[in-house]
Amino acid sequence: MAWFKKTKKPITAPAKEKPSRVPEGLWVKCPDCAQAIYNKDLATNMNVCPKCGHHFRIGAAERLRTLFDDTWTEYDKDLTSTDPLVFTDTKPYKARLKASIAATGLKDAVIAASGAIDGIETIVASMEYEFIGGSMGVVVGEKITRAIERAIDARLPVVIVCCSGGARMMEGALSLMQMAKICGALARLDRARLPFISVLTDPTTGGVTASFAMLGDLNIAEPKALIGFAGPRVIEQTIRQTLPEGFQRSEFLLEKGMLDLVVDRREMKSTIANALRFMGAWRPEPRSIADGPPAVPRELVAQDAGLPKNRLESR
Ligand SMILES: [Zn+2]
Repeated sequence: MAWFKKTKKPITAPAKEKPSRVPEGLWVKCPDCAQAIYNKDLATNMNVCPKCGHHFRIGAAERLRTLFDDTWTEYDKDLTSTDPLVFTDTKPYKARLKASIAATGLKDAVIAASGAIDGIETIVASMEYEFIGGSMGVVVGEKITRAIERAIDARLPVVIVCCSGGARMMEGALSLMQMAKICGALARLDRARLPFISVLTDPTTGGVTASFAMLGDLNIAEPKALIGFAGPRVIEQTIRQTLPEGFQRSEFLLEKGMLDLVVDRREMKSTIANALRFMGAWRPEPRSIADGPPAVPRELVAQDAGLPKNRLESR
């Protein structure tokens, strides 16, 4: 006989929605307003429902496409996890990695890249939820840290788009160490007086919320994104109280002062560009080498008392 008996029923998963009868691929049913949307309409609308504004989840590469002006340079593309704990749950971690690599075409759950956002050269790290729930393992931690360090070297602003279930449990304590590592790099970025904007998308939970996602000079969320540490179901069962309406959603957190802005995906790029300009970055004028070194705008010379230094200024 076992020493301990489970007297309570285990947590059950919520009942799944009825599968739609609409043929796969051409039409998508909006989970919010139940409207059928033509797939191409959705794609041209940045995967936001044109009728009710529901934000569909998008992949890391698609996200970069919505932010950058054109192409981008990707860094540390080939970093892969070595499975340091030789971990096995329902299946070996190695097999999970292999399946995720095949499904997403990425080697881990983040893309680190540099490119122009409305003309402002920026380093962006974008997380991929389809890769083991966007979980943060050693590779995600290392890629984001390197991205921040690259930004410090080149004096560029940093944007991190979070979409993650939290730390990657298959890498145990090693995944938790990434929280401190990334926060350390962000502290150095801060000391270098360079801006960091955190974009929180659905979902941003666990160790990601508990570290870099909430450390932005600006924390911007997409509408109705789930943002929290533990999930609402777990909290409800722990405190045995019904949670208020909209708990852990962007709008609720904005009202409680946890976020700075809730911004529609279709306006995210211009909002980020405006914020970066406000924080000291500016769009360099098109010029040729014959013009000599770029002039520092007069307003920046005048305000050089502790304001963020612009990258051009330090060259
Ligand atoms: Zn809708």
